[in-house]
Amino acid sequence: MQIEGPFCLLIGLRGGGAVAAAGMGPGGACWRGGGAGARRWLSSRAPAPRVCVVGSGPAGFYTAQHLLKHHDLAQVDIYEKLPVPFGLVRFGVAPDHPEVKSYGAEDNRILGIPGENLPGVYSARAFVGWYNGLPENRDLNPDLSCETALILGHGNVALDIARILLSPLDLLRKTDITDCSLAALACSKVKRVWLAGRRGPLQVAFTIKELREMINLPGTQPVLNPADFTGLENAVKDAPRPRKRLTELMIKTALQKPGEVAAQAAAARQWGLKFQRSPQEVLPTADGRRARGVRMALTRLEGSGESAKAIPTGDVEELECGLVLSSIGYRSLPLDPAVPFDMQRGIIPNSMGRVEGAPGLYCSGWVKRGPTGVIITTMNDSFDTAQSVLEDLRGGMLDVSVSREGFGAVGSILRSRGVRPVSFSDWEKIDAAEVARGKAAGKPREKIVDPQEMLQLIGH
Ligand code: NAP
Repeated sequence: MQIEGPFCLLIGLRGGGAVAAAGMGPGGACWRGGGAGARRWLSSRAPAPRVCVVGSGPAGFYTAQHLLKHHDLAQVDIYEKLPVPFGLVRFGVAPDHPEVKSYGAEDNRILGIPGENLPGVYSARAFVGWYNGLPENRDLNPDLSCETALILGHGNVALDIARILLSPLDLLRKTDITDCSLAALACSKVKRVWLAGRRGPLQVAFTIKELREMINLPGTQPVLNPADFTGLENAVKDAPRPRKRLTELMIKTALQKPGEVAAQAAAARQWGLKFQRSPQEVLPTADGRRARGVRMALTRLEGSGESAKAIPTGDVEELECGLVLSSIGYRSLPLDPAVPFDMQRGIIPNSMGRVEGAPGLYCSGWVKRGPTGVIITTMNDSFDTAQSVLEDLRGGMLDVSVSREGFGAVGSILRSRGVRPVSFSDWEKIDAAEVARGKAAGKPREKIVDPQEMLQLIGH
């Protein structure tokens, strides 16, 4: 494992465990401290299995929780490269969705089209990281001076971003969105947001709760073209219930007359869904200095249902916009050259969480199955991985006859590299400071976005 930062965070928990690593991202920083599992520690002559978990997102915590609950002797150290825990629970989920707080992976898929790197084009991952206070994105400073934004992708992240761009500030002020992004959104000129997908309404990846929330967003008007939904009522008659209800809601919204919904009566802002449009090129302004639109290839669908493929028809359309957000999915990064990684699928090859060709190494979360699913999916998936560890312990596949030092050994390496670990109680001080700052502003917390400031706060 690479230890990168000048700081690191380690959470030490005791309960029961294995000599194994369950990871979800390239860790570096670490924490140490007692946790809920500490009270479960029982003395025994058998060496306590030590588990190293890399990454303190939901997958890491759920794996640790399951191990500690089902093995009285295990000790789990959770390592994290940032001085604050919880991964994308803290940095990924929209600030106005505190009840969801879920998903994670370290990188985004790229579009691979000309103009993708022009100013005015941002990845959803960076944009979400910016409004959620992810240190590496704190200086993103997105240009919100245009009136029209185009989000590429029809997933829940795309809807999250559209909602944040169009939400009344009063709603956002009560969330833990960072102060600087709130200030930027207050000056934003964006009043129209298009979400474009390469396939049709029957293939959208977002879910009904998120769509409904968007439809009911105060002060905004959905603009859906009824022609996009012709014949779909029949087509979804026998579809699985979630797809059927989702499609029916889109149809109902498309047929709605302007002003029919009270919250939209005096809508100054608009959003809409565009279908069967695949991004082909981000177009530059005349001086070549920034994005002015995206050329979209029109597509037809080959096949039906969820597996239908988008095939370019040869026709194109230019969509004018000053802000382009690419929201086409996240991807995990390789952990370490020694850990196998399938670059194509963006996952660690594994069977039930057991990393192929690396006995004693396990994986969980998006790095195990790819960037799909919500918090419950990750929870169940992490419990499965922990279960594999427990089975291997019981079956003697893991050698736990020798006592291992766990953080004792890692701590020496860290010290030799000048890395000062941030302990769990250090994190609690950062947490308290954030909550206190938030209270003054009527928010659940004001996140500290500069790691140096976090370290100063705990006297590092
Ligand atoms: P996603 O659900 O996988 O959606 C990705 C979207 O990008 C799809 O519409 C996909 O279209 C499109 N896309 C992919 N590659 C493309 C390409 N090369 N060109 C054009 N379009 C492309 O990803 P996500 O929105 O990042 O969400 C990730 C996971 O987190 C999902 O499971 C999501 O439900 C979850 N999440 C949940 C919540 C919540 O519970 N509130 C919030 C946010 C995220 P195709 O279908 O055609 O590939």
